[in-house]
Amino acid sequence: MVNSSNSAASYPPEPVILTIAGFDPSGGAGISADLKTFAAHNCYGVAAITALTVQNTQGVSAVYPVDAGTLREIIHALLEDGRVCAIKVGMIGGHANAEVVREILAREHLLPAVLDPVLRSASGRELTGPEALLHGDLLKLPSILTPNMDEAAALTGLKVENAEEMKIAALKLVEMGARAVVVTGGHLEKATDVFYDGSLLETFIADRIKPDNTHGTGCTFSSALTANLALGRPLRDAIVLAKVFVSEAIRKAFPIGPGRLPLHHLYRMQQAPRIADHSPAPTEPETAH
Ligand code: PLP
Repeated sequence: MVNSSNSAASYPPEPVILTIAGFDPSGGAGISADLKTFAAHNCYGVAAITALTVQNTQGVSAVYPVDAGTLREIIHALLEDGRVCAIKVGMIGGHANAEVVREILAREHLLPAVLDPVLRSASGRELTGPEALLHGDLLKLPSILTPNMDEAAALTGLKVENAEEMKIAALKLVEMGARAVVVTGGHLEKATDVFYDGSLLETFIADRIKPDNTHGTGCTFSSALTANLALGRPLRDAIVLAKVFVSEAIRKAFPIGPGRLPLHHLYRMQQAPRIADHSPAPTEPETAH
């Protein structure tokens, strides 16, 4: 007999998305960026943490991978609920965790899955070695990979510094077995993304939005793309919508510290009225003697 509190009628209508990624305690990248982005798309996020990082707006100072057995146990428990309809993979954090992710993507091959091959932070800290991602058939399993230019270069061994080289890298990644790729180039003069799925090669260009010191854009783009796939949109539409979402979240980015600004993932929500002003107190002007 089914307990009425667990009956199908009580399930939320929102798609449930699983993110497998690192934890950024400053909330700009990783798991928290993913969960906020899913919420902004009316999706419900569940999360398996691959690694804890020590970081603030000024950079990453340490990375502590989660034990692979624990990661597997968390993912299995979340999948056992039977409601996950899409998977996003971000920072993996090492070989043993890459094997867990590979196993899960192979088992759940019917679900849309986006893999953002996170290798290092913009502040230069290594988050996962490229060899962990290149191990076995991991890159062949997801519906789409979303490397930035540096990641595309590290995975292909090619130089990737402009739109033409992004196209060549996208072709190479598909030749290496990827089902589809979008190489993101948000740091070029125009924000340029190159999509290739083995037949269609398309370049998306948008104005680059200041400020350019934003944190977590890759995580946010790939989780917005996953949310749009979970909502049933075709791949190309999902990419275009994710790009628009990231541009707007960058436009609304705000300073929570002296370093790189986190995007405003929840810019679409109506802001609660402020009851206190938390902006830093103005410094006293120096008095002339
Ligand atoms: N921390 C975590 C957990 C991440 O997943 C990432 C990127 O994916 C970063 C930090 C780095 O983000 P950024 O390069 O935008 O600073």
